[in-house]
Amino acid sequence: MKSYENVVIFDHPLINHKIAILRDEKTCMKEFRELVEEITTLMTYESLKYDVQTVEIEVKTPLETCTQRVVKDDSVVIVPILRAGLGMVNGVHVLFPLAKVGHIGMCRNEETLEPDTYYCKLPNGIENKLVLVIDPMLATGGSAVDAIALLKEKGCKNIKLMSIIGAPEGVSRVAEAHPDVKIYVSTLDRCLNDKGYILPGLGDAGDRLFGTK
Ligand code: URA
Repeated sequence: MKSYENVVIFDHPLINHKIAILRDEKTCMKEFRELVEEITTLMTYESLKYDVQTVEIEVKTPLETCTQRVVKDDSVVIVPILRAGLGMVNGVHVLFPLAKVGHIGMCRNEETLEPDTYYCKLPNGIENKLVLVIDPMLATGGSAVDAIALLKEKGCKNIKLMSIIGAPEGVSRVAEAHPDVKIYVSTLDRCLNDKGYILPGLGDAGDRLFGTK
């Protein structure tokens, strides 16, 4: 895959370790869900290190009073792409417990492999927030491209996309469609198969998170 200025591939040994367990077909639903949350927390920590809004507060230590910068907690809005994105929400909330959550429902048309939007509910004032779009699998990129376009239509200007596993096809597609959006993936897989699944991937993330088939 060609390199893009707006794409960051973490390839971090601690995250990769967790992804190996995530991929394993023997990993049960509970462990899968917990790993998705843990990986999301690690990715959030890294993705937002430069641009989280902070405010100065006064803190009284046992010795004296000092000023200290703290995170402006409601400066981030989390937008999971339904349904698999839901599995990542708690992982962001660990770091931003007061972040509001908008939902965008996209389902894949199994013939065209393109997404259809069936649901969109976003918090008021989202246009002034840092919007973190989450979806564990960046496969064809269709859902992400459309979800980001929808957020831009609503006035959002500061959008980031976070996916655990990306396929070169999907990463390139989003990177080119939205060069102003920073894309974070933990690992880049080989390719998509003819059904739009990522190889080697981990199967259907939604099914593995929620125990459906
Ligand atoms: N969505 C998934 O859950 N898995 C894939 O491999 C591709 C899209």
